[in-house]
Amino acid sequence: MTGVTLTNAVKRYGEVQTIFDVNLEIEDGEFCVFVGPSGCGKSTLLRMVAGLEETTAGKIHIGNRDVTHLDAAERGVAMVFQSYALYPHMTVEENMGFGLKMTGHPKEEIKAKVAEASRILKLDPYLKRKPKALSGGQRQRVAIGRAIVRGPEVFLFDEPLSNLDAELRVDMRVEIARLHKEIGATMIYVTHDQVEAMTLADKIVVLRAGRVEQVGKPMDLYNDPDNRFVAGFIGSPSMNFVEGEVRGGKVTVAAFGGREIITPIALPADGAKVIVGLRPQHITVSPQGPATLELRERLGAVAYDHLICADGSKIIVETRGEDSLEEGASVRLDFSDDDVFLFDATTENRLR
Ligand code: ADP
Ligand code: MG
Repeated sequence: MTGVTLTNAVKRYGEVQTIFDVNLEIEDGEFCVFVGPSGCGKSTLLRMVAGLEETTAGKIHIGNRDVTHLDAAERGVAMVFQSYALYPHMTVEENMGFGLKMTGHPKEEIKAKVAEASRILKLDPYLKRKPKALSGGQRQRVAIGRAIVRGPEVFLFDEPLSNLDAELRVDMRVEIARLHKEIGATMIYVTHDQVEAMTLADKIVVLRAGRVEQVGKPMDLYNDPDNRFVAGFIGSPSMNFVEGEVRGGKVTVAAFGGREIITPIALPADGAKVIVGLRPQHITVSPQGPATLELRERLGAVAYDHLICADGSKIIVETRGEDSLEEGASVRLDFSDDDVFLFDATTENRLR
């Protein structure tokens, strides 16, 4: 049992509180991703698990052990950072084995473990090279290899792919997914990139300003967000939000020329404002209407149409871009009532 449990975890730097009562259960062997905008507390929370930050209040368990106040070295975790921090004067082989050498492991054991990590990460051709003779992706693999060699119960990754260019990031994402399949260890992975979170995670934890907004499987968060923040954060391009007003048991949407939404969802009283959420692929664009096609971004298979609605609000619609609409055209927007997400205008919580 090497799951990770956080119970009412709190972090304060003097007067400043950055983590608020986080409760989380990460299962043995699970790939858990902490995602959220910059500054929301992802690294702080990960470093609390690692033992690199003191936990101000609450408990952290790894397996059955209460590790809340243990040193990092005693927790059975290994961390991979955004900066690879390899020793420049050591070869790949020496870099990977250095930790074990320092803790006095026998030479043969180190050799075997480095060989195993090198096989998993396909580093065999580079073992005798120094870091300066490696590409960014290869260096990051060495940093991951260094973690594997230590045989931790839990792997912790803090934005490990942020320094790589876009193409390499995709390659490394696949490598990390493969690594998790092969090793099967519990992994906690921090990123601000919701695509990385969606593609890698068994479980996503969405953080905002030091609080957990929602925890769930990637597609559950996408299909069934609890609030506007999660709805807007997960998915690319983001969900569109426009204002709606409750009238006679329906929702009237000024942005769509007064279009009425009929919904089985229990609505607040007449006159109340709600937020109407629609994913970019759930809106259709056709000629002649109260909206304006401001800009069409053609990506190849799809196009992102940037539109100005009847009430001046701006939305993005994913289309095939196959029609003859020109930028500046007057267009009609529509959607199916079934695809609408509704949120309370004040609390921003989902209306279900
Ligand atoms: P993320 O990794 O999500 O970008 P961090 O965990 O690095 O965010 O930071 C979360 C918040 O904690 C930020 O507002 C940051 O300014 C604050 N913070 C981080 N380290 C310290 C520190 N040593 N003292 C005070 N505040 C800190
Ligand atoms: Mg960070």
